[in-house]
Amino acid sequence: MHAIGVISSYASWLPVSSATPVITLGEGNTPLLEARGLLPPKFRLWLKWEGANPTGSFKDRGMTLAVSKACEAGARAMVCASTGNTAASAAAYAARAGARAVVVVPQDAVARGKLAQARIYGARIVRVRGNFDAALAAVRQFTSQHPTVALVNSVNPYRLAGQKTAAFEVVDALGHAPDYLALPVGNAGNISAYWRGFVEYHEAGLAATRPHLLGFQAAGAAPLATGAAVDHPETLASAIRIGRPASGHLARQAVAESEGAFYAVTDAEMLAAQGRLARATGIIAELASAAPLAGVLRLAESGELRPGTEVVVVLTGHGLKDPDVLELHGGADEDSISVEAVAEALEQEARR
Ligand SMILES: *Cc1c(COP(=O)(O)O)cnc(C)c1O
Repeated sequence: MHAIGVISSYASWLPVSSATPVITLGEGNTPLLEARGLLPPKFRLWLKWEGANPTGSFKDRGMTLAVSKACEAGARAMVCASTGNTAASAAAYAARAGARAVVVVPQDAVARGKLAQARIYGARIVRVRGNFDAALAAVRQFTSQHPTVALVNSVNPYRLAGQKTAAFEVVDALGHAPDYLALPVGNAGNISAYWRGFVEYHEAGLAATRPHLLGFQAAGAAPLATGAAVDHPETLASAIRIGRPASGHLARQAVAESEGAFYAVTDAEMLAAQGRLARATGIIAELASAAPLAGVLRLAESGELRPGTEVVVVLTGHGLKDPDVLELHGGADEDSISVEAVAEALEQEARR
């Protein structure tokens, strides 16, 4: 039988045993798509499309492991703080496991689709008057005193262990590690997980090299790019609206070891990249996911990216979850016309 989900696919690389119940929705094994028309032909650009995961973001890779291990340990409820995608993922995997999920979200800052997801999966949604960093502090405090409630944020080491499988998939698909891997950075767990995956494959002799990691933050929430914590993070890219990244130390170490860098991109750059991506490739990635694309486009234009290099951009989540952002792209519907006039409208397009 073929393996379903990242635990079955990469069991020997993960902290699981035959006693671990596998709670999966078939996450992972996402497409690595070559992107033409976004960068000049002297670069080779690949898109790791993580919006293809079961709940629409890479969070599922870590959640399958975190929830499976929590169930193995006898936990009855899963708790997380979230800017949205972790909440949707925790709620889905808890539902799959027959467990409770409680998600704590900042009051005004979560995309509508993500909240709707968590709601229909049956999670209890607690809205807090504060930002993500405050929500995370509250759930960490609570779960440290309640061992039967599992904390499934990326400070849970099983989350990062599951997420490193994305690096394995990139190498398995290309047959080697790319020169650069670019991704958005919020709480900084994912960039740390990718690095671990690349290092493990390299040490096992499955990849001759390791990529330089390029981490992109929003200009209004860029503690790693600037080196200073942000008390009031501001950006439309709600998935990376984080001022005090919990895995900041791991991410700094990963970027240093890989001889990579952190950068900040503006909301306007992200919006432009999100639109360009959709028109050039047919992929609607969420705004945070457009950050690394915006950044790579800028680095290629400025000449900082050497010609001939191979770049993988990780598109971390699906754009359909955030209709309010999609509407910023404009493009209102045309007025309706008579059935007779349809042929004329089509005729005009056919002549273009
Ligand atoms: C969670 C998330 C991020 C940020 O990942 P971190 O591990 O917190 O750095 C980026 N993009 C999307 C779509 C996310 O859901």
